[in-house]
Amino acid sequence: MADFDETFDWVVIGSGAGSFASALVMRKAGKSAVILEKTGLVGGTTAKSGGVIWVPNNRFIRAAEPDETPEKALTYLQAVCGDLPGSTPAKRAAYVSEAPMMIDFLIDHGVALERGSKFWPDYYDDAPGGCNTSRIVTAKPFNLKELGAWRKNLRPGFLDGFNARLDDGMRVGLKHKSWRLKLLYLKLVAQTALGRALGKYHTTAGAALQGRMLQAALKAGVEVRTDSAVSELIVEQNRVVGVATPHGTIAARIGVLVNAGGFAQNQAMRDQHMPGTRAEWSNTPEGDTGDLHTEMARIGAQMAQMDQMVGYQLTQMPGWDKGYVRPPAQSITGKPHCILVDQSGVRYMNEAGSYELYCQNMLERNKSVPAVPSWAVFDAHYAGDYPVGGVRIEKYYQMWRDTGYLKQADTVDGLAAQIGCAPESLRATIDRWNSFVDAGVDADFNRGARRYDQWLGDPFHGPNPALGRIDRAPFYAVDVVPGDVSTYGGAVTDADARVLRADGSVIEGLYACGVSSASVFGGVYPGAGASIGPSLTFGYIAAKHAAGVGNSA
Ligand SMILES: Cc1cc2nc3c(=O)[nH]c(=O)nc-3n(C[C@H](O)[C@H](O)[C@H](O)COP(=O)(O)OP(=O)(O)OC[C@H]3O[C@@H](n4cnc5c(N)ncnc54)[C@H](O)[C@@H]3O)c2cc1C
Repeated sequence: MADFDETFDWVVIGSGAGSFASALVMRKAGKSAVILEKTGLVGGTTAKSGGVIWVPNNRFIRAAEPDETPEKALTYLQAVCGDLPGSTPAKRAAYVSEAPMMIDFLIDHGVALERGSKFWPDYYDDAPGGCNTSRIVTAKPFNLKELGAWRKNLRPGFLDGFNARLDDGMRVGLKHKSWRLKLLYLKLVAQTALGRALGKYHTTAGAALQGRMLQAALKAGVEVRTDSAVSELIVEQNRVVGVATPHGTIAARIGVLVNAGGFAQNQAMRDQHMPGTRAEWSNTPEGDTGDLHTEMARIGAQMAQMDQMVGYQLTQMPGWDKGYVRPPAQSITGKPHCILVDQSGVRYMNEAGSYELYCQNMLERNKSVPAVPSWAVFDAHYAGDYPVGGVRIEKYYQMWRDTGYLKQADTVDGLAAQIGCAPESLRATIDRWNSFVDAGVDADFNRGARRYDQWLGDPFHGPNPALGRIDRAPFYAVDVVPGDVSTYGGAVTDADARVLRADGSVIEGLYACGVSSASVFGGVYPGAGASIGPSLTFGYIAAKHAAGVGNSA
């Protein structure tokens, strides 16, 4: 074996969600573990995220809903997922059986988790086995000061300084519609202020999850290093035996786990695998450049689902490219009184579908009719009630009008002229939509039929929370493009998270999880948390397999 500068039992590349889960398993098994993070900040895209973990049959839903079973979850995944390399029935079965144990394991190791919401339905909740309540788990808000000196090394989240559960934080956006939500808002403000007065500084969502994971890992004796980009997987006799970093080489006695994110920030790889998409539309951090995709392919790994991304539509409001999080458009077109049209003024999808499917639809439509960007078209009802990209229109109205971002006209024909489509086309689209709203059924795309569509709509709007007429002037439009929050393709792995070659053989010593691996869900996003859930679960599975420990891990 080559001379190495250092040796650990378990070497983890990247500090994503599954990295910490795997290292905790290794420490429990009495093995040494090092996490090597390329950037100066640990936590990856996971820390920037909502931190939602999709886990069917988790302990929280089981306690509340006796009809939640592994069989039900498998039925659902079988109904919605495609069989692709990396997404096999065996892998999905492993996910369904191991993910709840992973949650129990993390809780046992001090990572405070809870049911993220009682109502956050699966994205295809009307499919067999779908859940119309909630299968999600989130971390409890976390006081960042508990990290001590490590706090400065945790990648910031998008709700740092806020002591609230993500679900509550999202709900208070409609506080102008309900006294209960106003009270909830006041409670969140008060508990945040009280925490600050007591010297605490909370975060929530993905930063709370990764803050808690980092804390648990450090406590368990995991070695965590920043500014340690892995440039090479070192192979001897067909086995991965270590890695190279700028600071030297590290041998891995048991194995190497790649949890190094995706390639969303690498425009050349995007052009090759997902043409028509742009790195600047991605919400991923700077380190998401696919280094380990290239390296795993170099040593013979089969790569798959490379054309898939966790699409997340965004709107390009002035300053959109300066923000830490790109302005979301998911909730715009899912709200009543709003639809999405292509550049010919025609509606082409259920605007309340999963964000992944939404962006797939945009790119597909764009092959026949220009649809990048598309237009979110709404009226004065919408403008009075809901935000655009998380901001109330009145706040930036003049600037948005002056820069041309916000299109506005007193008539539908006038709006059509501004977005460059034929007036009769946009008029026909809106008349048809209004007739669907009146009938209570979207006869074209069935928007509003699923509980998920209703969740994305407005609970205070009736009779259907997702359907509202577009009929009150002025009329508005803003652009929507197919952004993303990750790529979703990578190395093909088996049910033990081992990396495979194209002939199905295992590359000994090499495991992968998260978006470094091809998704277990085969081009589909079954519910909120369908990226972090598999990252955590297959990190957990990889370490158990490599350490040779069973479910007591
Ligand atoms: C705003 C937002 C909200 C989201 N909300 C959710 C959500 O609620 N639930 C959900 O499931 N998904 C969500 N996503 C998507 C999700 O966050 C990501 O898909 C997921 O976190 C990817 O996790 P990972 O473990 O694969 O890798 P990451 O968390 O991205 O970690 C990979 C790490 O590897 C590092 N790395 C890269 N190359 C190297 C190298 N050569 N050497 C060493 N380290 C390297 C990177 O710098 C990075 O820190 C959201 C994303 C965003 C941006």
